[in-house]
Amino acid sequence: MSQLAVQVDTVLLKVASRCNIDCTYCYVYNMGDEGWRNMPALVSEETISAICRRLAEVCQWQSRRFATVLHGGEPLMLGAKRLKKLLMSLRAVLSSDYPIAIQTNGILLTPEIIEVCDQFDATLSVSVDGPAAVHDRFRIGKKGEGTHAQTIAGISRLKEHPNSKRLFTGILAVIDPFSDPVGVYHYLKELNAPSIDFLYRDGNHSKLPFGKRSLESTEYAQWLTTVLDLYLRDPSPPCIRFLDDLIKLSLGGQGTKEGLGENEYGIFIIDSDGSVAKNDTLKSTAPGADRFEEKWSVHSHSLIDILTTDEFRSYYSLQHPTSEKCKACSELKVCGGGMPLHRWRDDNGLDNPSVYCADQQFLIGAIRKRIKLAGHTA
Ligand code: SF4
Repeated sequence: MSQLAVQVDTVLLKVASRCNIDCTYCYVYNMGDEGWRNMPALVSEETISAICRRLAEVCQWQSRRFATVLHGGEPLMLGAKRLKKLLMSLRAVLSSDYPIAIQTNGILLTPEIIEVCDQFDATLSVSVDGPAAVHDRFRIGKKGEGTHAQTIAGISRLKEHPNSKRLFTGILAVIDPFSDPVGVYHYLKELNAPSIDFLYRDGNHSKLPFGKRSLESTEYAQWLTTVLDLYLRDPSPPCIRFLDDLIKLSLGGQGTKEGLGENEYGIFIIDSDGSVAKNDTLKSTAPGADRFEEKWSVHSHSLIDILTTDEFRSYYSLQHPTSEKCKACSELKVCGGGMPLHRWRDDNGLDNPSVYCADQQFLIGAIRKRIKLAGHTA
């Protein structure tokens, strides 16, 4: 194995480049990038074979287990039959210690699809932003209608499965800083998912995230600090990955996901045509920002060869912030400079602190204060 090659942690498979709903904040369809129009609506059998062949090579090449996440668009637009073929092909090269996860809006979760996931040991995380009034503000259908009821119905079907405890791994919630954090916390907790992950909204220095008045304002941190206090007081809290990581990092431990801390993660996308791309959240910065200069594809390139190129390494190094402010920041080890997409400014690219810098400092400060009050050293 080359010492210079990046190790793979997560492969995101864009198995559907279309979605059954039309969330207004979606970086794939509603933030200016039109790349999805050139992609096959659904991944073909030929592309699935090429993906599996390339993933098998990675399994041979590195001992570290990596996760494969089916993404979209909406991955369940594949339908039960195609999903079964895809998972069967993936499982033929990925043993059960390689997690396969699906990120879905939950609406198309039928008993048949859930059964297929169970059969091939694929887990499901569902996007829910909160109670109906919060969720339906942005997560809408093609005619502008709310989608909350359909998503919750999908989760109910998932929970009815005898192996739901293993299948249903979590909820992904995008923060609306105008929503009531107390109501959102209790609502998501009641859904009984083993884990909840909160996400900052997309945005950058040239296009401030929804709800942020200025670079100095801390709307998201205040919202999250209210959740933090509920979480710390709750005798039976759910697992909240974002807060857990911040707490662990503040105590000198390690985070588990990109966007916090200084760990490096080998993550890339395979699009529905088999092309290899960067993390597609970069689409929110500028059209085509998720594409490599090289036109790599699983049809013609080995992933291992791609991972050893200078271009891939320079994409990989984007995880570390380059701005002087971040490099000198006393909270760099905890914050990590945030996600690259949040560092973007039209005139100087990514050479900036996160657009959530003030929020991160506020939130990390709040965590340190509470750790100190609890008698620990942060
Ligand atoms: S984004 Fe802000 S808080 Fe985070 S490392 Fe950079 S300067 Fe520090």
